[in-house]
Order: sequence, then structure tokens, then C-alpha cells
Amino acid sequence: MLARMGVSLSILASGSRGNSALVQSSSTRILVDAGISCKETFKRLKDTGDDPRSLSAIVITHEHADHVQGLRVLARKLNIPVYMTGATHRAWARTVRDAIGELPEVPRLEYFCSGHKFQVGDIEVMPFTIPHDAADPVGFTFRAEGIRIAIATDLGYMPPSVCDQLRGCDLLVLESNHDLEMLRLGAYPWSVKQRVMSRVGHLSNAALAQFFCNDYDGNASYIVLAHLSEHNNHPEVARGEAEKALGLRRTLLNNRVLLAAQERAVQPIRL
Ligand SMILES: [Zn+2]
Ligand SMILES: [Zn+2]
Repeated sequence: MLARMGVSLSILASGSRGNSALVQSSSTRILVDAGISCKETFKRLKDTGDDPRSLSAIVITHEHADHVQGLRVLARKLNIPVYMTGATHRAWARTVRDAIGELPEVPRLEYFCSGHKFQVGDIEVMPFTIPHDAADPVGFTFRAEGIRIAIATDLGYMPPSVCDQLRGCDLLVLESNHDLEMLRLGAYPWSVKQRVMSRVGHLSNAALAQFFCNDYDGNASYIVLAHLSEHNNHPEVARGEAEKALGLRRTLLNNRVLLAAQERAVQPIRL
């Protein structure tokens, strides 16, 4: 493991088939969600130059499979603290019990409450409530060494309370799930389309663009577009819409827009 200075973020996977990211300071490494298998998590950590054995903790946003499907094995294998809300833990444990006949064991389980910050090593973690159809879903901000990172995916819309959390960040990871036209015309059953578009579904490119135009403070050096739909979006469509919205605010030309990917890790963004 190479010694690394400063704060960085890697996206190991992003999308409806699995989500996981790594936030790290000089001394602390937090895995955000465990939505790909343990084996694949280890592989992608190696791809980004990180040692899985050096992880400090895992924090979980919500219990949907694309955020937790590797959690049971990862928690056992790494024996590091796993942070989630009580409601998320209960919902996840029930799903695992129904699938494998027994409750999952988490050797070092820690509960947090949305709106109450907690500390992992030298990283301050602030969970905040997001509108999504899970038991107790959250986004996070992370603060270390004077740097602030926010991750907010899986949200039906951007309420003012979420916009507040996204102020003053150096890096934003935000959902740009679908293009509305592609979703409307696409092959999903109507019930699924309605769920995705609902206030507790997923954020469209247009809704994110609206955030950039109306509520974004322009502070971030990097904006990562995440949780893109593979059927109802295209990376260049999402990027185009985000850059157009940012471009309308001429002071924001320094914001770099990057894309997270489902099939491969994005190399660490250093701040
Ligand atoms: Zn998701
Ligand atoms: Zn979800």
C-alpha cells in the first residue's frame, strides 16, 4: 500500500446493478455502500491502488440490493465497523433472512441517525435524509482535512433540505439517473416507469440540471454524475445536460463533470 496524502474519492461501481465508493483521508478509508460482491469489491479496490485490508469502516445509504448485496460477506471478511440506521439494518436483515434462512451477522454493527454526524477516524460523516422508497434512506457528506464531499443518489427529487447539505462541497457525487424521454419511450412496464419518476424514485437528468441552475452554489471542483440508468440514459446525454446547465451560469466553468460507471472503477479523484 502506497502512502497517500490528502483526501480522495473513488467510485468502484455506480448504477442499478451495484454501487460502491471509497472516501479516504490520509489516515481513514470509508467504503460507502457494498453493492457489488466482496470479490468484485476487492478486485476494483486493487484496480484503484487500494488495499481492501486497509478499510476503516463501511457506511450504508439504504437497503436496496444494489447498495448492500456484498455487505454480508464483506462485513464478515473484513471485521470492520458497519454503520447504518436501525431501520435500514432491520429491513436488510429481513431480506437476507428471507433469502438464506438466517439473519446476517455483522461483527461490528454501529447505528447512526439521519441528521446526526459521527466520526470515523479523522473523517466526519453527516447522514441526511433523502426522498426514496426505502426504510430510512440517506445521503452523506464527508469532511476531512478541510475538504467536503457529498454523495446523494437514489432520490426522487431535490428537497431544500438536501440542497442545503450540498452547499460548500469540493466534490459532489449526484444522481443523474434517466433521460425523461428515453424513460417514457423505453421498454419498462408502466408501473416501473411510474416508480422511477415518482417523488421517491430516481433523479432525472432534467431535475439535476434544474438543481444546477437554481440551487447549486458553484463551489465544487468536481461533479460526478452517478447511478445512470443503462436503459434510460446515455453517459453523453447526461453529461451534455449537466454541462449545459452549468454553462448557463457562466461563473461555473471551472466545475469539471465526470461520469461514474457500472462496469469499472473510476480512478481516484484527489482533492
Ligand atoms: Zn440504487
Ligand atoms: Zn435505491
